[in-house]
Amino acid sequence: MRYHIITYGCQMNEHDSENIAGLLEAMGYEHVDDPYKADVTVINTCSVRDNADKRFFGTLGQFKKVKKNRPDFVLCVCGCMPQQPRVVEEINKRFSWVDIVFGTQNIAEFPELLEKRLKTGLRVRAIIDNNPDISEADMKPVRMHRHKALVNITYGCNNFCTYCIVPYTRGREKSRMMSDVCDEVRRLAADGVVEVMLLGQNVDSYRDAAGHRFADLIKAVNEIDGIERIRFMTSHPKDISEEMIDCFRTCDKLCHNIHLPVQSGSDSILKRMNRHYDRASYLETVDKLRKAAPDITISTDVIVGFPGETDEDFEQTLDIARRVEYDSAFTFIYSPREGTPAAKFTDKVPDDVCHERFDRLVDVMNEISLKKNREYKGKVCEVIAEGVSRNDDTVISGRTDGFKLVNFTSERSPEQLMGRKVMVEITETKTFSLEGREVL
Ligand code: SF4
Repeated sequence: MRYHIITYGCQMNEHDSENIAGLLEAMGYEHVDDPYKADVTVINTCSVRDNADKRFFGTLGQFKKVKKNRPDFVLCVCGCMPQQPRVVEEINKRFSWVDIVFGTQNIAEFPELLEKRLKTGLRVRAIIDNNPDISEADMKPVRMHRHKALVNITYGCNNFCTYCIVPYTRGREKSRMMSDVCDEVRRLAADGVVEVMLLGQNVDSYRDAAGHRFADLIKAVNEIDGIERIRFMTSHPKDISEEMIDCFRTCDKLCHNIHLPVQSGSDSILKRMNRHYDRASYLETVDKLRKAAPDITISTDVIVGFPGETDEDFEQTLDIARRVEYDSAFTFIYSPREGTPAAKFTDKVPDDVCHERFDRLVDVMNEISLKKNREYKGKVCEVIAEGVSRNDDTVISGRTDGFKLVNFTSERSPEQLMGRKVMVEITETKTFSLEGREVL
């Protein structure tokens, strides 16, 4: 029996898919590359991206024929989409060939749901909102990389940014116990993992039942033998603490890299977004981070054309981008998500204005990224090798401590290098990557 998982969205979803793959493999299923040739295909959905509904329902439509030709084929849908009742209603009404629908907090139950479907032939639906018992203790994720792993530390979010659907799809925030996270990281280290990414919608508000905060967790993970790099995602500028920033000085395994979403450089827009920080406090946080770790790389998210955004507001966003000098940025044109407060805002920014601002912002961001990358030319960087280039199997790719993508050549074979630290001299710099050669 073969399975395939189609994953959309963020790293939380990627990790959920790793866990679902682990559950399927424990049931004896084997992975297959083609979703149309699998016996069980799972679509792990995201509702954050542009046109999420359209794309999602379009994908479902493509499986109608598969089901018609192979009635035993099992199609499953999970992730953020089914957490919205209107989506489940629509699936039930228009897509009768979807066998199983389960929520972000029902993943551990998936084997039982699949068994039920296989035994009874009935359609199965299981979506709960606030499961108090989320545990990863029994999960055996099939990791995408041998040497690095995603580790959930919190689930859900309490922030209710006015544009965001996540608090409605992933529920209220819950933190895992620090001891459970550390046990998982120890098991990963014993299995050859050298790099962990601690995941949460807002890692800075981590607080477990024993009162441990995010800085305590980083310090504890920093003590685990075998782990060489610690990353985390995502930070919220309103919650980042002095203790956390100090970890960049004191924790030798903590990578000097942070993703610090700014969303807008305008105070009035930040207020309408319900972000609870202003540009002054954001810039102050950036200063503190740079004092703690002068070589820190910073990436961000920006939304262009949020309702009510004026030319002046947008100029403030360009200004903050130039002041911070981000290493990279994910830029989005605002699009409303049904069910969020911002979807009801009436002062929409016209499409042509959004696109013009978006293009200007991307130009500014790319110019800064290139300038920052040029500073690496001639330097020797420590890179952990991650994979082989798709176009050229003599080129290996990896990441620096600061998460810069480096494509490099080496006299050693890829097998010898995967998951290992390699010293690479940077010979060329581009906007989104660096190039170089291994120096021995
Ligand atoms: S912090 Fe805001 S943007 Fe991030 S997940 Fe929570 S509500 Fe969404």
